[in-house]
Amino acid sequence: MGELLAGKNIVVMGVANDRSIAWAIAQSLAEQGARLAFTYESERVEGRVRKLAESIPNSLILPCNVTADEDIDKLADTLRTEFGVLHGLVHSIAFAKAEDLAGEFQDTSREGFALANDISVYSLVAVSKRLSPLMTEGGSVMTMTYMGSERVMRNYNVMGVAKAALESSVRYLANDLGPRNIRVNAISAGPIRTLAAKGISDFNSILKQVEEKAPLRKTTDAAEVGDTAMFLLSHLSRGITGEVIYVDGGYNIVGA
Ligand code: NAD
Repeated sequence: MGELLAGKNIVVMGVANDRSIAWAIAQSLAEQGARLAFTYESERVEGRVRKLAESIPNSLILPCNVTADEDIDKLADTLRTEFGVLHGLVHSIAFAKAEDLAGEFQDTSREGFALANDISVYSLVAVSKRLSPLMTEGGSVMTMTYMGSERVMRNYNVMGVAKAALESSVRYLANDLGPRNIRVNAISAGPIRTLAAKGISDFNSILKQVEEKAPLRKTTDAAEVGDTAMFLLSHLSRGITGEVIYVDGGYNIVGA
């Protein structure tokens, strides 16, 4: 075990099961000595999150549905009581309706568009606003994005537009919070088979293409994302803010 995050209190939002990218991130953070608080979306996933989180000594497990301001306020209050000072926030949350992740983007409903952006984008803004006051010793916020923000990827549709807004939010938040020595960054991961990925039609062919074309000739491991997140949460990345860092085996650099 390393010591890069010894004495650091970090909240991890977005564990649903052991395949969640947030879980891989939590493991990398715990390996470097961080104390963790996990949030879960609803009672539907609580049992699974509890079981995983309890394998990491001394961690907290708290409810937070990011569509509810009162849940976020309560989370901030509990973290203030339990941690006092917060050093890091991992935001690994997204959602879109299944019907908005297939077919043509122009068919996205007003309601589907609003929901995807509320959960996948506005939540980063709302949570950063409520939790950054606890980062009195400086801090690091990170979120998860995907290349569908910049390029048209089949079936990614409304989530691509949401990820573009998320990456822009990272830059605006970095500018707001930088004077308080709070950094805000995103990791753009290659495709990884998780619960959220199950919602994307034809995910297998996306994985196959990455395996064939990425410079590293492999798909992305959640643990690779976990270790990059650990770097972003540690003092090693102290000069980096407002950035989107690709962890995708280099796939994004390849042309035709
Ligand atoms: P996942 O399904 O394990 O994680 C998504 C999480 O979002 C779940 O824990 C779910 O409970 C949470 N969530 C959804 N609605 C919520 C709400 N209202 N309140 C609180 N939490 C809510 O899947 P994942 O692939 O680990 O996704 C994590 C992040 O990584 C997402 O932002 C996703 O877009 C991003 N990402 C995933 C991939 C991939 O290929 N899997 C690639 C790049 C980026």
